[in-house]
Amino acid sequence: MGVDGSTTANAIRARKVDPVKTIRLTPEELAPAIQALLKGEVVAFPTETVYGLGAHGLRADAVARIFAVKGRPADNPLILHVLDQKALRRLTVDDEMDPAAIALTEAFWPGPLTVVVPAAPTIPREVTAGLPTVAVRAPSHPVARALIAGVGVPIAAPSANLSGRPSPTTFAAVWEDLAGRVPYIIDGGRCAVGVESTVVDCTTRPVTILRPGGISVEMVASVVGEVQYPHPGGPARAPGMKYRHYAPKKELIWVVGSETRDLVRARGAELSSYRTLAVIAPHGVVAPPEWPSASLGADEVSAAHELFSAIRRMDQTDAEAIVVMWSSLKGLGQAVANRLEKAASMKVE
Ligand code: AMP
Ligand code: MG
Repeated sequence: MGVDGSTTANAIRARKVDPVKTIRLTPEELAPAIQALLKGEVVAFPTETVYGLGAHGLRADAVARIFAVKGRPADNPLILHVLDQKALRRLTVDDEMDPAAIALTEAFWPGPLTVVVPAAPTIPREVTAGLPTVAVRAPSHPVARALIAGVGVPIAAPSANLSGRPSPTTFAAVWEDLAGRVPYIIDGGRCAVGVESTVVDCTTRPVTILRPGGISVEMVASVVGEVQYPHPGGPARAPGMKYRHYAPKKELIWVVGSETRDLVRARGAELSSYRTLAVIAPHGVVAPPEWPSASLGADEVSAAHELFSAIRRMDQTDAEAIVVMWSSLKGLGQAVANRLEKAASMKVE
């Protein structure tokens, strides 16, 4: 159980939230959450990527509640969470199960990879946002799997944050955004990966990386060979791509760099009007000692793990704005850079 999660959340609960509406569950207490999902209610639960806000994936009324709770635009489709490839086959048009979707799910499921495939007619249009395709993932987190097995249907789930905010990677972060808005939040401690799944559109040749995430693009390419990216300015294949995302309340400034000298240079130029900045940077970057700071650790895996919780922590400091220093596009570095691209209001190169 996340030690940080428990303490902060209890403090928050004692201060300001309605204790009647939201109940925290331990992973051993899943039964009422399963009942709630079967009744069409929404439940926040841990996955290995980020916390999800789940609902019965085949009921339009249940799925509609996710959008209401998050304040999510209705044209942003959801991912259906299943146990395995067999369940994926039931959600697509079977004879269109293509070799790329089969190879990718065999290689990376259960895990942080989502495939986009032609949608079966049984899937509510609230899930697909009216697209002819559906996004499907099999998570590896034992609590997520127990929940899916318990309800016996796919669980539709986006990240368990209010729309536009950083994704939650701890119980405390979910509580901060959703307490009082959902009947149950399940505490699974800190998410192991820390960024969302990689979304791969398997209806194009080569496959299209719609969102880099917990499985690196190099790993996807090692299975399917060539990959492509959506054409800038082309039709939005994933409607979610057009919204500002992951943003803290403070201004977020992305400094493309990973060394102390990059921060010093930006501080003397683009950042000179700020008195105090909160700095989130790779291990080894030295920030002014009077500024709050958080480390992204020594490599890309650690940066993915730390990013969202560091942004939320620094958002609670007195600093005027948050600076994130990052430059690597290797492995999970691409997922980190993608989140910064969408969260930042200024980019210093
Ligand atoms: P989240 O907002 O964290 O739930 O992420 C879901 C992501 O999957 C968003 O980027 C969506 O746009 C994308 N997605 C979901 N369903 C589809 C689909 N049918 N076609 C393309 N992208 C999808
Ligand atoms: Mg999200």
